[in-house]
Amino acid sequence: MSPRRLDSTLDPAVLDQLRRIVGPEHVLVSDGDVEPYARDATPLFRARPDAVVMPATSAEVARILRLATEQGIPVVPRGAGSNLAAATVPTLGGIVLVLTRMRAIREVSADELLAVVEPGVTTLELSNAAEAKGLLYAPDPGSRTVSTVAGNVAMCAGGLRGLKYGVTRNYVLGLEAVLPTGEVIRTGGRLWKDVAGYDLTRLLTGSEGTLAVITEVTVALLPLPAVARTGVAYFPTLADAGRAVAGVISDGIVPATLEFLDNPCINAVEDFAKLGLDRSAGALLLFGDDGSEASVTRSLEIMAGVCERTGARAVTMARDVAESEALLTARRCSLPALARLAPITLLEDASVPRPKIAEMVDRINAIAARHNVVCATFGHAGDGNLHPTIVFDPADGDVQQRAEAAFADVFDAAIELGGTITGEHGVGSAKLPYLEKRLGADQLALLRRLKRAFDPAGILNPGKLGS
Ligand SMILES: Cc1cc2nc3c(=O)[nH]c(=O)nc-3n(C[C@H](O)[C@H](O)[C@H](O)COP(=O)(O)OP(=O)(O)OC[C@H]3O[C@@H](n4cnc5c(N)ncnc54)[C@H](O)[C@@H]3O)c2cc1C
Repeated sequence: MSPRRLDSTLDPAVLDQLRRIVGPEHVLVSDGDVEPYARDATPLFRARPDAVVMPATSAEVARILRLATEQGIPVVPRGAGSNLAAATVPTLGGIVLVLTRMRAIREVSADELLAVVEPGVTTLELSNAAEAKGLLYAPDPGSRTVSTVAGNVAMCAGGLRGLKYGVTRNYVLGLEAVLPTGEVIRTGGRLWKDVAGYDLTRLLTGSEGTLAVITEVTVALLPLPAVARTGVAYFPTLADAGRAVAGVISDGIVPATLEFLDNPCINAVEDFAKLGLDRSAGALLLFGDDGSEASVTRSLEIMAGVCERTGARAVTMARDVAESEALLTARRCSLPALARLAPITLLEDASVPRPKIAEMVDRINAIAARHNVVCATFGHAGDGNLHPTIVFDPADGDVQQRAEAAFADVFDAAIELGGTITGEHGVGSAKLPYLEKRLGADQLALLRRLKRAFDPAGILNPGKLGS
């Protein structure tokens, strides 16, 4: 059975059943009520859902999914809708299933170094709950104040600490998930060692809401580092900053933070946040580490030394936590700062092997010039993950087509340099046209067969991964 779009509204009998499952106040159908769920944080994508349904338990999720499979109704799971890949836009209409009513932190265990949370808990709420017990939840996407833990799992979100600590997948120990056919499964769990069966926890991590609905997440925690410190170096060019990154790693340091901003980005952030950044620098490198006082002092000294050796014209260390936070703000506010420059901000997410960063940035700048678009780039220098960002006014002729053509070239360049079309933001609808280039036809066909095994009626987030 393939999902069908039911005219402009769902069958009244289906709506009645949904209202009986979650309560009438948790089913939205009017234009005004469903409009916010027609889009996510990705510009240029929009599709109206027929209904928005907000369950409170996994049993309710199971009943909704069973009904949807019986009726062939598309269901799009949604957390905060902060993804940047149009992954929650209900392309074929149907139900947007919002999980944010399920937001209990069920457990934070210092003995077992883990936490168990419902899907709608925000990343920051989980981090704060861990911190209150002297523990660290390491993944820290820039959207952590709003993004949900299940949304992070479903996108395998990264963040500013990816180089040293890895990404969300490195912390997911177990999941409770509801299959589109209504069965509730538990994958993994509290065990640090468990190799019974295929690793479905990993498969569901990054599955972008296309295989199952996640209703509980068990994550690994770490002891909270004693101190965390940050410094900043300004370079004449991004190539110089790239050499500093290579030097840091070859000096045996794997820092918690190694982020860069190019010149247009520095200026946009300075206009926005007034942090006192050097507007004339070609590139800014933010470096930081955490751990014991002695190890952090040593690694920051080594990183500062490498920056000086590779041509930094100024290197400054934050003197206290407040100054460190101000520097991290420069990186965290890059996207909102660029978004002020023009009505549309298209942020991309290519990744290349670390030694290729400077070459990739050169290629991005050449591509932007060729297509005559305004592009600024920032990103995670330590893990080769770049966020070229094109800003434009759609009233400006064919600029949107030029921006899209530029990004197609950026993805080709990333693949050519041994990289990928998305390092952390996921595929969604936005990157689906480029997926075959990255995976090849055989792997794409396998993805489709896996999708059918989980979701025989094809109701879960259709038009995305596995379609
Ligand atoms: C300012 C800003 C900064 C950002 N910074 C980063 C960053 O540093 N790193 C990074 O990786 N991303 C970043 N993002 C992107 C985004 O925040 C992440 O992709 C995040 O993981 C999405 O979480 P969410 O709760 O908003 O999920 P949503 O956007 O609601 O959904 C994302 C995907 O998860 C699926 N999903 C949601 N909940 C469930 C569930 N319970 N079960 C199954 N599937 C589900 C959806 O179907 C969709 O495919 C940023 C976004 C913004 C706007």
